[in-house]
Amino acid sequence: MFRPVLAKLLLALALSNSVATSLAAGSSAPDVGFAIIKTSQVAVREGMLVPGGSFLKQINSNFSAFLIKHRQDYLLFDTGMGRQIDSQYQQDMPMWLRLFFKYDHPVVSAREQLDKAGLPPLRRVILSHSHWDHASGVLDFPEVKIGVSAPEKDAIDHARSGAATTWPSQVTGAAVQWEILDFKSGPYKGYAQSLDLYQDGTVVLVPMPGHTPGSIGLFVTVDSGAVYFFIGDVAWTQDAVLAGAPKFWAAELLVDKNTSQTLASVTQVRTLQQIASGLVVVPAHDSKVQDALGYFPNWVK
Ligand SMILES: [Zn+2]
Repeated sequence: MFRPVLAKLLLALALSNSVATSLAAGSSAPDVGFAIIKTSQVAVREGMLVPGGSFLKQINSNFSAFLIKHRQDYLLFDTGMGRQIDSQYQQDMPMWLRLFFKYDHPVVSAREQLDKAGLPPLRRVILSHSHWDHASGVLDFPEVKIGVSAPEKDAIDHARSGAATTWPSQVTGAAVQWEILDFKSGPYKGYAQSLDLYQDGTVVLVPMPGHTPGSIGLFVTVDSGAVYFFIGDVAWTQDAVLAGAPKFWAAELLVDKNTSQTLASVTQVRTLQQIASGLVVVPAHDSKVQDALGYFPNWVK
């Protein structure tokens, strides 16, 4: 009589362990895949984000972080809005720009969502670029390396208040462990330089200068074989990439460091999209694309 009870107990223990493991890794976590962590959003005029879009109609612009899973390793591409966004905004967003650049409450930071899900610790955070709506959560991850390109680190070293760009409140302080990414892996999908993070071609970074001098993009080839291309703010929407169009002119003036270089980067993405069937371009703020893919804890695999 004792044995069946013990067996049942052991079985229950084994099951609860496996449930805990699968929860920790997310629901049926992939070998290589990603999950979109939406931290906030804001409604904006469609014409600001989509070429030929209406200025009467409003669409959502997302503030997202992208959780990439590579076997036992987790990294974050961008942070979206971090825990301290309200005080950062008060400190560094100039009054006149507060009309144009806003975010909705509640903000649920990537750190909060990851901690709640009980995932294993991240290996590193990598920034597409250091603008305020991408780097807000850097200080939420003091224990991991924050990867940026060398030109972006230069922008970080010159961070200043008074523009909607790189903010001192988010990127200064000895606590941040910067890591300069070395694009040493050779050409990849038409890009002259790349950094193949795991040396297996599944998670690959490429320089995409223009929006900022050090902007980078990320290719992820998931379990199904589909390739996703995270392009940061090179373009704000997939529709803008398809149209090969730059941002609305006023937005361009406010945010793009080098407009002709940005257009060249957009054109390169568009060309790649035309020749690489099945490539899915994921702009950092594109709610239409992200809604279709779903959000953390759901995995794209
Ligand atoms: Zn942005």
